Amino acid sequence: MRLLKERIIKDGIVKDGDVLKVDSFLNHQIDVNLYREIGKEFYRIYAGCGVNKIVTIEASGIGIAVAAAMYFDVPVVFAKKSKTRNIAGDVYKSVVHSFTHGKDFDVVISKDFLNSEDKILIIDDFLANGSALEGLCDILKQSGAEVIGAGIVIEKGYQAGGKMLREQGMRVESLAIIDKMGPDVGIIFRE
Ligand code: 5GP
Repeated sequence: MRLLKERIIKDGIVKDGDVLKVDSFLNHQIDVNLYREIGKEFYRIYAGCGVNKIVTIEASGIGIAVAAAMYFDVPVVFAKKSKTRNIAGDVYKSVVHSFTHGKDFDVVISKDFLNSEDKILIIDDFLANGSALEGLCDILKQSGAEVIGAGIVIEKGYQAGGKMLREQGMRVESLAIIDKMGPDVGIIFRE
């Protein structure tokens, strides 16, 4: 997605530890016009696939998922990062390793909001090592819902997640794939 790539080049900041900061337009301050275009693009890619619900993970995924859901005209369900280990039996639960915080946390979705009839599009801001997506897939498997595919805004293609998930047979569509980034090379996108 050209608009997105241009914005990443203009305003993205490469930090130590392989982290791309996009706080000024994607996940702290939000450029709503860009979000609208991102939502439209996910709809263009997955329209006609029978998606009836979008699933994401708090917090950065929520706004993007909502932007897409407006086009699909479907609800968004987001996985909550659970602060308590004492979880009641009315949730599906998995564990996610946070790339940016370097620790594990539980994620939960209420059983009220997922069922075996659901056809799910997963949306997230970044794909790095794939732990967030794996956790969501685990939860969706517990619910019996079908995963139609994933829509990712920025995939760091040199990290393992995208390859691993595609090899498992999952459809993963990323609007910008970064092949390389660093202080010396800048940001290099896959064609
Ligand atoms: P994964 O679980 O695929 O390793 O990492 C995905 C999650 O980590 C995303 O939900 C995102 O919040 C965060 N993340 C991974 N890499 C980056 C990055 O380079 N920049 C930012 N801002 N977040 C990232």
